[in-house]
Amino acid sequence: MAAPPTVAEATRSTPIVDRSDVLVVGGGPAGVSAAVAAARSGARVTLIERYPYLGGLASGGMVLVLDDMVNGAEITTTGLIGEAVERLEKLGLAVSPPIEERRVGWDVWRTWARWGCHDFRAHGKPQPIVYAVAFDPDGWKRVSEDLVVESGVNLRLHSWFSEPIVEDGRLRGAVVETKAGRQALLAEIVVDATGDLDVAARAGAPHVVGGYMVTTVFRLGNVFSALDRQAKRLLGGAWDFWWLKTPLPGIVWCNCPHMTGYDALKVEDMTAAELEGRRRIASLMAFARAELPGFAQCYLIDVAPQLGVRQSRLLEGEYVVTKEDVLERRHFRDTVCRGRDYYTPYRALLPKNVDQLIVAGRHYSADPQAQKISREIPPCMVQGQAAGIAAALALNRGSRLRDVDPVAIQRAMRAQGADPGDVPSANAAPATA
Ligand SMILES: Cc1cc2nc3c(=O)[nH]c(=O)nc-3n(C[C@H](O)[C@H](O)[C@H](O)COP(=O)(O)OP(=O)(O)OC[C@H]3O[C@@H](n4cnc5c(N)ncnc54)[C@H](O)[C@@H]3O)c2cc1C
Repeated sequence: MAAPPTVAEATRSTPIVDRSDVLVVGGGPAGVSAAVAAARSGARVTLIERYPYLGGLASGGMVLVLDDMVNGAEITTTGLIGEAVERLEKLGLAVSPPIEERRVGWDVWRTWARWGCHDFRAHGKPQPIVYAVAFDPDGWKRVSEDLVVESGVNLRLHSWFSEPIVEDGRLRGAVVETKAGRQALLAEIVVDATGDLDVAARAGAPHVVGGYMVTTVFRLGNVFSALDRQAKRLLGGAWDFWWLKTPLPGIVWCNCPHMTGYDALKVEDMTAAELEGRRRIASLMAFARAELPGFAQCYLIDVAPQLGVRQSRLLEGEYVVTKEDVLERRHFRDTVCRGRDYYTPYRALLPKNVDQLIVAGRHYSADPQAQKISREIPPCMVQGQAAGIAAALALNRGSRLRDVDPVAIQRAMRAQGADPGDVPSANAAPATA
């Protein structure tokens, strides 16, 4: 397709509104974690977020189960993610199976499958009940804000990143669009936690554009049980359990509809997906009220304010994690974070070409197939923690980010209570790269 015609914009002088050691762009699970970890390591941190709240897909996307946290009985995603769960539990806004119910059996399946606390990768029925946490989206916003504010991060909401400030291949900061006009923020190091690689891509870092189905997640109130097959057909795609329980009684969340063929980087496609999602939800509502036991009096509480984008741009960094790396649980010498049973090397957070930039979250350097199975909220938070720590170490030592010793990151992760995956579990395999 031919490129559209263009207009020439006048050159502008943009006011510098902030100077920090570390600028984190994007306040989702990875960005919050990166900001808090860097601040707790002594850096002056600024966190910018386009929306009026923190949490990304975990709050605005209403993705309400923390999963991919275990390797057998071992809980592998620890650190800030564990702290977030503890805080949610104190608010009464998190639910997870007790240890004695984390096993295989129809009795525990009947209790926990509707909470999304089963190992959905396991074959056969009933699938094992495992440690996973159902939580409330507003609780997640509050916990993210508390973590950020208490650690002294300078938080700037309502700030939409638009352009990187690059000098001689080195990132110097970012320009954001705000109600007050364009603003510049300068920093020694930038963390791209936008999920769509907005900063790294515009700064010229090599990347690929992947894609996967998108979803307008929604919640229904006043629900007490159900039958499912026709509902899934009306939604045009959904998991087996298209609705799951939440910590709030009578309120269920629906991680559907599954909508394919939309480009999550195109305004036209994203607009069409929002409208299509609402249309499908409306058609489901009519059926559910008429036909599904327990749904007769149900009502739509909300459709997630954020479109559920699972995958868009992916970094092609110093190392690209493959599907085999994830499935074969390959362990790297420079592992600095981990997901359920897989390991992420420091190199997968580092872009080629651009210095003093690090990425964390679902756009990390993985091929599209690998990312699909390694992008859940808990591992993104562990990645964020590693990125924030790496930034602080680079500043303290006056070194480039890419010269930070992964062993130092591993030690600092442990000191902050996070498992960096430096010690492989018994079922890991050594990586050759
Ligand atoms: C429908 C759906 C269901 C899912 N189900 C689960 C599940 O059950 N369990 C699970 O653990 N994971 C699930 N996931 C995956 C998980 O939600 C994401 O992979 C995870 O939230 C990624 O975290 P992140 O911080 O990398 O990115 P995001 O959560 O996308 O956060 C990115 C943040 O950056 C901000 N941002 C983006 N661009 C800009 C910009 N230009 N300027 C300023 N700010 C910007 C965004 O507003 C957002 O706050 C699901 C995802 C989807 C879409």
